[in-house]
Order: sequence, then structure tokens, then C-alpha cells
Amino acid sequence: PFDVLIVGGGPAGAAAAVYAARKGIRTGVVSERFGGQVLDTLGIDNFISVQHTEGPQFAAALEQHVRDYEVDIMNLQRARALVPTTDAGHALLEIQLESGASLRARSVIIATGARWRNINVPGEHEYRNKGVAYCPHCDGPLFKGKRVAVIGGGNSGVEAAIDLAGIVGHVTLVEFDNVLRADAVLQRKLHSLKNVTVFTHAQTTEITGDSQKVNGLIYKNRSTGELHKVELEGVFIQIGLVPNTDWLKGTVELSRHGEIVVDARGQTSVPGVFAAGDATTVPFKQIIIAAGDGAKAALSAFDHLIRTPAP
Ligand code: FAD
Repeated sequence: PFDVLIVGGGPAGAAAAVYAARKGIRTGVVSERFGGQVLDTLGIDNFISVQHTEGPQFAAALEQHVRDYEVDIMNLQRARALVPTTDAGHALLEIQLESGASLRARSVIIATGARWRNINVPGEHEYRNKGVAYCPHCDGPLFKGKRVAVIGGGNSGVEAAIDLAGIVGHVTLVEFDNVLRADAVLQRKLHSLKNVTVFTHAQTTEITGDSQKVNGLIYKNRSTGELHKVELEGVFIQIGLVPNTDWLKGTVELSRHGEIVVDARGQTSVPGVFAAGDATTVPFKQIIIAAGDGAKAALSAFDHLIRTPAP
């Protein structure tokens, strides 16, 4: 069996692989798409010590760094179940793959990441990275002094609007429901800001552009059915981040948002199973945080291994 088997090849999984391999233990990485979300990213300006890079370049660098070590990379493989088992009295973990194969390991690190929920209106896909954004921490500064909308009035939407209001010229917050669902303290802060307009009971129907970049947003007033156009340069969609953890339901404790519950060491509810990055309860979903957590999970897995008799 593997000493450490990592599921997921994004920044968290890659960092875990390098840290595990450097302990001289048998390390494997199973991933559906090595690189993860950064493959869908254009500019990255907030990975400290790298002033600027592009997503695909960063993903290639992750893979190159892992390949510098003896790591068994199994790309284009999707895990479908985690099964705790035993072998001659020794605890083992089995990862079953969609392909039908299964892999066994003494410890597992889950780093399957997350995906932003799409709003699925015309223009969203077409203008992705051309004015349509999902991450205010990542892309907020690109809209300095410009006009943006935030779609979604939950905590993340209202937090994004408050954050962006300090950077951009104007923020329009568009919420489908009659009321914002964010915490009252956030709503009070939002309403105190002079460069924010809030539309509730408003359904975004389209993100418009000039074929190069975003130039507006159309929403429908859900009481009157009337359509309104807002002219702007950017749209931040904040209607949820969905962790890729469906396959773990019933085995590993998940939060009500589907995030893997981890402690400060990355330990999950199952002995020998650790988790890192966007798939977990760790606050703030960012590359540098995922990578740091991946390192932490690998060191925790190593700690676990030296305390557990080998089969
Ligand atoms: P992910 O990157 O999501 O990687 C998950 C990995 O798990 C992938 O390899 C995936 O294929 C694999 N996987 C998933 N399910 C399975 C399964 N069942 N079996 C096997 N493998 C599986 N952050 C920044 O810090 N700066 C930025 O500028 C920035 N810009 C962004 C722009 C966009 C458009 C997006 C979408 C995100 C951006 N982020 C940015 C966020 C950042 O990409 C994530 O925080 C980071 O990638 C999380 O890393 P991760 O390793 O936890 O997960």
C-alpha cells in the first residue's frame, strides 16, 4: 500500500505530495485534473514571492515540482469512495476509483477542492475572466475605480460588496430574494456605504458585453416583470462555493455546507484521513492557504504513520 495517498492535484494536493515525498515515504496522487481550479484562472498576483503568473503556468509548475520527487501521479482518475478496512489486523484505507480500480494506503489526504456555483445566464460563460469573476480577493484590484455588480445577498455576497466598495468606483448588489440573507451586522455596514446600490427581488437574466468584455447586466424586477440594464465593467458571482465532497458522504464528517470538518492539524473524523484546501472547513479559499494546508496535512499524516505499526 501507499504510505500517503493524496486525492486531488490542486495546490493543496501538490503541496501535500511534495511534503510527504520529502519524508521518503511511498506517496501517490490521484486526480481528475492535475492543477485544479488554477487551470481556469488567468492572472494570479497574490501568491507571495511570485509577483505575477498565469493559471496554466502555475499548474504546470505545481506538476513539475511534484515530479521532482518520487511520487506516483495517477491523473484523469476520479475517486468515488473511501472505505476504511483492515489487513491482517492493521488499519488500511481504500480509495475506490470510478474506473473500477482501487488503491490502498496507510493514510489518505483529501484535497478535492471546490467549484463556484454558476448562475447560468447568457454571458456568464462567454465573459468568464473578461469581466465575470468569482473571487473578490483575487480579482477585486482588477476593477479599481470601475463599476461592478455582486450577484448574491448572502454573507459571501455582502462581504464581497463591502470589500469591493473600498476598491472599485461603484457596487450594485443584486439579490433574487425579497431580502438580503447576510448577517445583520454586515447588512448595516453595507447600507452605510455611499457607493453601493442594492436591488432585492431582482433576477439577473443576462450579463452583456461587446464580445471582448463585460459592459452591463440585465435584471428583472420580480414584482413588475420589468427589465433593467445596469452599465458596468465587472460582475462578481457570489451564490456559493460547492466543495467536491459528495463522494465522502457517510464516511467522513462534513459541515452543513458539505465541507470536510478538519481540526488545526488537518485531521478529519476518520483516523488516518486528513484533508486540506478548499474542500475543508478552513476559512478563506485561496491558493496560498490551500498550499499551506496541504503541507500541514502531509506533516500530520507523517506524524500519524510514525505512531502506527506498519503492515
Ligand atoms: P482545487 O484547485 O479545486 O483542486 C482540486 C483537485 O481535486 C483537482 O485536481 C481536481 O481535479 C481533483 N478532484 C476533485 N474531485 C475529485 C475526485 N472525486 N477524485 C479525484 N480527484 C478529484 N486563488 C488565489 O489565491 N488567487 C487567485 O488569483 C485565484 N483566482 C481564481 C480564479 C478562478 C477563476 C477560480 C475558480 C479560483 C481562483 N482562486 C484563486 C482560488 C484557488 O484556485 C483555490 O483556492 C485553490 O485552487 C484551491 O486549491 P485546492 O487544491 O484545495 O483545490
